[in-house]
Amino acid sequence: MTGNAGRAFAIEIRERYRDVAPDKWPVAVEPLPDELLSSWLHRLAMANGIAPRSFPSVLGLGEGMWSPRLDLRLPRNVATLLSDQTGLGIKNLSAMTMSGGAMAPLLLPLRDSAHRNRSTWMQYCPLCLAADEAPYFRRQWRLASRVSCFAHGCGLRDRCPACRAGIATFDQGEFVPQHFCARCGFDLRAAPKASVKATARRLERAIADICMVESVKGSAKTSDAVSRVLRTPAAANIRSGRTLTNLSTAARVGCFEALAAKPLDWLVNDMDGADAYRRWMIVAAGGHEALIARFADFLEGHKGAPRSKRTPGMCADRSELFGAYLRVMHSDGARASAKGSCGSSTRHSKSVI
Ligand SMILES: [Zn+2]
Ligand SMILES: [Zn+2]
Repeated sequence: MTGNAGRAFAIEIRERYRDVAPDKWPVAVEPLPDELLSSWLHRLAMANGIAPRSFPSVLGLGEGMWSPRLDLRLPRNVATLLSDQTGLGIKNLSAMTMSGGAMAPLLLPLRDSAHRNRSTWMQYCPLCLAADEAPYFRRQWRLASRVSCFAHGCGLRDRCPACRAGIATFDQGEFVPQHFCARCGFDLRAAPKASVKATARRLERAIADICMVESVKGSAKTSDAVSRVLRTPAAANIRSGRTLTNLSTAARVGCFEALAAKPLDWLVNDMDGADAYRRWMIVAAGGHEALIARFADFLEGHKGAPRSKRTPGMCADRSELFGAYLRVMHSDGARASAKGSCGSSTRHSKSVI
């Protein structure tokens, strides 16, 4: 055997060793759809034999609400450590956070106490947790503008029904999955179903869609929609001294139910014709998807095509339909106001659908 062959062999062993025994935590945990970073961190910690309360010391962090704080800001050194130890890309880690973005003002504030009628930092749907193979917390549940589950139609909950404490998995000192209350051990999947009136759920979905559509547009209208949503308690005459983010989920349900019975002035006043009409249409249709479907029906009827001859292909052209819808809306708006801008709205429609 030559010296060269020996060196080549030695190099090959070192390369393989790096592959099969990397400097990583033993168990990998894949993020689940819309999973919040803190939820993934709690699952990761427990899968690797560390209770969530002890995990911040591994990351070089202090105790308390360490993981909800990372949801809001993931420092570069922590992101690098997590990426190195799990093999998950920093982009994937960042996608689980709630930092920045147009919806940030709607995030529930971090509170580790759960005073009566005040918001807690996290909500959950018991039916989602019950349906999960590995129960986890969704990013959407952090938003004050969300009060119900779009999948199950029930109300979200923001505290344990047994001890009334908020979600505190970050302080869980034992090896207990996060769907058990960290304070009393109650299985949150068994929480009684909370009901929300259908009118309030329609309004909630429309609000979510309006914020989403306008945030993609990236204009000043984003903050306008969000700031109007933050002021909904005043519009509904409920605890007018507080913004939406400070109310408990039950109080926000009451707020949305009251608003659903009122005119939409709170959402559209002082706006120009086209923009106000677009918001009004989304609310009237019960959401963006429903609006597009109605507009497709409208166009079909306009062509004089019999409904029975509707082809499946109609659904595939939603961006064109919405573009046409916006052009119609803006031509109406142009008559009502000289401020309408057809081109920018059409570009926007293509990017959101
Ligand atoms: Zn659900
Ligand atoms: Zn409890």
